[in-house]
Amino acid sequence: MERFLDYFVPEKYVLDLSIDKNRKTIKGKVKVFGKSKNDRICFHAVDLSIDKVLVNGEKVDFKTESNALTITNVSKNDLEVEIEYHGNLNENMEGAYLSTYEYEGHTETIVTTQFESHYAREAFPCIDEPAAKAIFEVSITVPEGSEDLILGNMPVKSVVKNTTIFEPTPRMSTYLLAWVIGKFHGKTIKNSHGVEITTYTALNQDLDSVDFANEIAAKSLEFYDDNFRIPYPLAKLDQVALPDFEAGAMENWGLVTYRESMLLVGKSATLGAKKSVAVTVAHELSHQWFGDLVTMNWWDDLWLNESFASVMEYYAVEHIHPEFNIFESFFTSDCYSALLRDAHLGVQSVHQDVKTPEEISTLFDSAIVYAKGARLLLMVIRLMGWNNFCNGISEYFEKFKYKNTIGDDLWDALAPHATFNPKELMHSFIDKPGYPVIKNESKNFEEFSQKRFILDGKPIDGETWPIPEVAEDMSGHYILNLSDDEFKKRLDNFDRLNLEEKLRLLIDRNLITQSGLASAASLVPLALEFKNEDAPAVWNKVSALIGNLKTYFDSDSSEEKMLKKYTLNLIDKKLKEVGIQTRENDNEDTIRLRANLMGLDYFAEDVERFRDLAEMYNSDPEKMDPEIREDILNAKAYLEPEIIEEYLEKYKTISDPDIKFDYLASATLVRDEKQLEKVFMLLGNFEVVKPQDQLYLFIYLYRNPKSKVRTFEWMTNNWGLIKESGGEKTLNDYPMLTARLARTEEELEAYVNFFGPMRDDPVVSRAIMMGENEIRARIKMIKKYREAVANELRKYI
Ligand SMILES: [Zn+2]
Repeated sequence: MERFLDYFVPEKYVLDLSIDKNRKTIKGKVKVFGKSKNDRICFHAVDLSIDKVLVNGEKVDFKTESNALTITNVSKNDLEVEIEYHGNLNENMEGAYLSTYEYEGHTETIVTTQFESHYAREAFPCIDEPAAKAIFEVSITVPEGSEDLILGNMPVKSVVKNTTIFEPTPRMSTYLLAWVIGKFHGKTIKNSHGVEITTYTALNQDLDSVDFANEIAAKSLEFYDDNFRIPYPLAKLDQVALPDFEAGAMENWGLVTYRESMLLVGKSATLGAKKSVAVTVAHELSHQWFGDLVTMNWWDDLWLNESFASVMEYYAVEHIHPEFNIFESFFTSDCYSALLRDAHLGVQSVHQDVKTPEEISTLFDSAIVYAKGARLLLMVIRLMGWNNFCNGISEYFEKFKYKNTIGDDLWDALAPHATFNPKELMHSFIDKPGYPVIKNESKNFEEFSQKRFILDGKPIDGETWPIPEVAEDMSGHYILNLSDDEFKKRLDNFDRLNLEEKLRLLIDRNLITQSGLASAASLVPLALEFKNEDAPAVWNKVSALIGNLKTYFDSDSSEEKMLKKYTLNLIDKKLKEVGIQTRENDNEDTIRLRANLMGLDYFAEDVERFRDLAEMYNSDPEKMDPEIREDILNAKAYLEPEIIEEYLEKYKTISDPDIKFDYLASATLVRDEKQLEKVFMLLGNFEVVKPQDQLYLFIYLYRNPKSKVRTFEWMTNNWGLIKESGGEKTLNDYPMLTARLARTEEELEAYVNFFGPMRDDPVVSRAIMMGENEIRARIKMIKKYREAVANELRKYI
């Protein structure tokens, strides 16, 4: 595909912007200094009106079509291109957009930006390609009398009347540029290396809720300084929680933006919420080096950014808060989702060719580009050793700072510090989709055979991956197909296995049964083996086994009732032991163990415990034990569905993002038709549920068997609205997530009828193709094993 950088190489942009949030307009003058290599040069410009173009001070003819500004008859040398333009601020969370919040009875408006992957071109004409690095001198003028705070990537150089002028940036890519204009409060701290860090939030959020993110940011930057051995490259770091935000967070250099729930930690935040804020902040801040200082040359190497950040977040948080046992989340959640997703036919590889802007959006398959890539890097780090890895990384940053790279540049930098060839090892895992299922052919995997493991059919012969040695911990991206004998042996010695070995045993077995290599019925006696288990991570994967068994039965069927009884029997002893309330001497492990058990308890419809929980209900959320707040809300609504009205009212009036979300999530679980209707009516109602949260509402309602069919229908009737209100990345989630929960012929038919005609749309085509395969495979498996699973369950109830 045509790259505009081939025609013109920008060196510096002087960007003078006038932004009026009340009129929703942006007006700008961009001066671009650079070298032309062609007599025709082009700039990306989408939904912008170009008013005037000067080249070296002379007025020139220009054309605007196909989302580009084209200037012809230019000379091949140093040019100064001056472009005057105007455009509108939008509300769809891309480009320069508006976000709002309610404060003291009125609506406050914020102007902010989201330029990754290709939306800078909606805010100003530019060469919007990651390799087109340049210096940016930004100034922002707001209407006279505005009292808004104005933030940019760099510190403010000066303020002249209503114009804020920022220090020039280092050489950087357009997608990392950012600004935020609005009313915020924040707190500033300095870390021990002297970097000034300020975390901001909207005025309707508690100011103290930024403290935790400040602490994590300060310590993450120190951790990266020490290990990457290049100090944080900018003079300051700002972090801002935004009321409207499509993704989780965005690593704009020096001005990182977040969804509120990913940055703020209120007084009554749960341990889980704190952990997710910690890893999100650590993730974004690792990007300040990996992604911002050194950037991938093109989007096909997006994994370079995301795999790295997705593993580094765990190393940083492990260092800052070892008591979180954060790597457990990596194994139970990231590794597991990577294994599930990567086992479907049609899945993308970590490294994926992309040409058009639409394709770029489909790259963000988090289970692959983030989770699988992270696991592969973990494998490399463990094979090399942390210190050797950091030696290589440090040289990589030094060599490529302010420049762009491809994947091989990383492997070449690591090679001198490794005892193996990282390039050779990683290419096969990164460049092709899938992973092997490994069969033991002699004692302890000294000899083994491999096939490609897939959930949509039989394993594929002839595809192999280099496996340096078969390890039974969680580092290798493969699964082990143990013979029944071998499996039993390990189970008998379960207590002597380390946590990673335990997790592998459970995860691999679960996947093997989902593919039909072993019967799902074998999971029934297996799960009971864990009755006395204490490790929360193991219970997390026992929940996944139960979740797998659940798919075999219709909701409310007699078989499902058996499974519920079985589940209650499975958890009862442990739950009695830990109790349903947080106790004073509980450590983090106990809190997480309880959370896992309580999740299963809700599925088991344990009415007796629901009564105990409901008694702890308080209409003031601050007065409920935060760790079990969600369980209390769920139990209360189960027993008294009318309480939903109060929940929805709380959702509307509370600002704390976590508490707010608990009320909404709990409301979507209600079985009572009349009450459920009130929740259903919020789909597409942006006044109450912001567009950023509509996907969650949708998928939660789809998960509820009482509203599943209706919710799917709602999507088919409101596809236009969904497309307009969310970004392209979110759009992809609809075919992906609905497929994950579909399990009947009727659901398959509805899926194919609706999504089938969209198979050629590059934004959703892969998700649809994989979704169809996934549902078909599941239906087949259900037909094959439902009876056997039911028969096995009968033995235990
Ligand atoms: Zn990232």
